[in-house]
Amino acid sequence: MSGDHHGEAAAISAHVRHVETLLEQRGLVDPQELDRALTAFLAGSSPASGARVVARAWSDEGFRTRLLGDANTALPELGLSMGGGLQEQRLKVVENTDSAHNVVVCTLCSCYPIALLGPSPTWYKSEAYRSRVVRDPRGVLREFGFELAPDLDITVWDASAESRYMVLPRRPGGTEGLDEKQLAALVTRNGLLGVAAV
Ligand code: FE
Repeated sequence: MSGDHHGEAAAISAHVRHVETLLEQRGLVDPQELDRALTAFLAGSSPASGARVVARAWSDEGFRTRLLGDANTALPELGLSMGGGLQEQRLKVVENTDSAHNVVVCTLCSCYPIALLGPSPTWYKSEAYRSRVVRDPRGVLREFGFELAPDLDITVWDASAESRYMVLPRRPGGTEGLDEKQLAALVTRNGLLGVAAV
């Protein structure tokens, strides 16, 4: 998808609604069944779920290793998944360190780990972010009020229909005494996408 993305998106949703109506009229699809599937898909999908995952990774070294190795098999340890009853999407969690920083984008359209984080923010879908973050990540992060140390390596991960990404931010200093709930409260959605420190 490129060009007039919003026009295309509107055309696609109109088309989907039309097909949905036809299927309902012919008794091929139960609207309540559809609602149930959607509700299941979105249950627990919010940035708070991503923050829980991060807080667990900061607190539990074994979980962190499993999460970075294969996020899809680690998420169910927290009762989370990338499927929510529908077909599961691949999630790769990329870790920020004191020498490497990660940022997430979908340059083609707006692929995003919706099943885990809920709907994507508007800026994530904007042409400006999608086209510029690859060419000038430091400049774009600066506009988010996030100044990266000059010696940090930046990797920009381009999401696709097959692969979605989430950032594991660095654990802030001075948080040794915090429990998982308190740690989760420090994590923002922007931090999960790499446009904020945490
Ligand atoms: Fe996309």
